[in-house]
Amino acid sequence: MPQSLYGVKEESKAIWVYLEQDDGVLENVSLEMFAKGREMADQLKWKLVGLLVGQGVAPLAKTAISHGADEIRIADHPLLAQFTIDAYGKMVFEAVMDGKPSVFLIGATPNGRDLAGRLAVRFRTGLNADCTNLHMDKKGGLLVSEVSGFGGGVVAMIEMHAHRPQMATVRPGVFALNEPDGNRKGEIITLPVALQPEMIKTRILECVKSGVVDLTRVPVLVVGGRGVNGDFATLRNLAGLLGGDVGATRPPVDEGHIERERQIGQTGVICSPKVAICCGLSGAFHLLVGIEKADVVVSVNSDPEAPIFEFSDYYIVGDVNQYLPAIIAALQTRREVSHA
Ligand SMILES: Cc1cc2nc3c(=O)[nH]c(=O)nc-3n(C[C@H](O)[C@H](O)[C@H](O)COP(=O)(O)OP(=O)(O)OC[C@H]3O[C@@H](n4cnc5c(N)ncnc54)[C@H](O)[C@@H]3O)c2cc1C
Repeated sequence: MPQSLYGVKEESKAIWVYLEQDDGVLENVSLEMFAKGREMADQLKWKLVGLLVGQGVAPLAKTAISHGADEIRIADHPLLAQFTIDAYGKMVFEAVMDGKPSVFLIGATPNGRDLAGRLAVRFRTGLNADCTNLHMDKKGGLLVSEVSGFGGGVVAMIEMHAHRPQMATVRPGVFALNEPDGNRKGEIITLPVALQPEMIKTRILECVKSGVVDLTRVPVLVVGGRGVNGDFATLRNLAGLLGGDVGATRPPVDEGHIERERQIGQTGVICSPKVAICCGLSGAFHLLVGIEKADVVVSVNSDPEAPIFEFSDYYIVGDVNQYLPAIIAALQTRREVSHA
């Protein structure tokens, strides 16, 4: 691999986090990376820096500082009002070349993945994509990125010895948010922005938002598998009564019974609910990755040998068509009694 644009000798002892925002709202994954970044920076006594790009985004700097940043660098410009890879790629590239951080973390969102891949090529560095954990090797200041590979059968630890920045994208939901501290102080640096309209080749004609909620933080997650036979209305009913939302395994998604954004697991969303209720799903490794952070797992499966039972705190061996309506009826009755 060719040499990166800067190397270990020129790096600054800092962990940078790209603060992704959409319409002035920070993506949760950015703040989740701050929690982990703070922990790693403290170990090495390094600086934790947030890079914020957009228009009118300065108020978000305070939020990032309260979540652990020592410093926020802001690129604010009308041509950064919406994400375009031309404008954002240029700004982030210039900012990173200016600061030369040892580590640069980006959320594995659609825009984050777009940005990270292109930047890694420009820096001529590596990119540890879709990490499910990170830590710093204390002696050498090396980032160790955990990535699952070969269909989930292997967890690889990746280190980057000579190339900088050590780049990684992190899956939303893998790190818990830390408690914000409103009294925390940090430095805010405004970056010069030299953008011209002709530099931006992408034209955004329309933005269509999917409207699907953020499943990474729902308190109760009701997950339906192939065994629910496409009946997600019953699961929605159950989730609604419990103040939660619905996810699915891959087969019902592939069969078109539910939106792809609701797929839970290795190639879907990673969630940390208080309770995960698994209905008619076998408990494949690829699915378990998405619910392993649940405090309590409850499952219903007609097969007494279903692997999901080994992962469950409570389970029912039985038919979802029989048990789910009974549970819903019991919850409705309890609700009516408590409202009477
Ligand atoms: C690289 C890769 C990535 C993948 N990523 C994901 C991912 O992110 N998420 C994901 O979910 N999958 C993923 N998969 C697929 C995964 O390996 C499994 O195939 C999938 O999770 C199985 O879904 P399931 O449990 O719904 O179906 P099945 O394994 O077919 O299980 C259905 C279960 O329903 C039970 N059942 C049937 N009828 C009833 C009934 N009436 N009442 C109660 N129980 C009943 C059966 O006993 C069975 O246990 C991935 C696969 C690969 C190779």
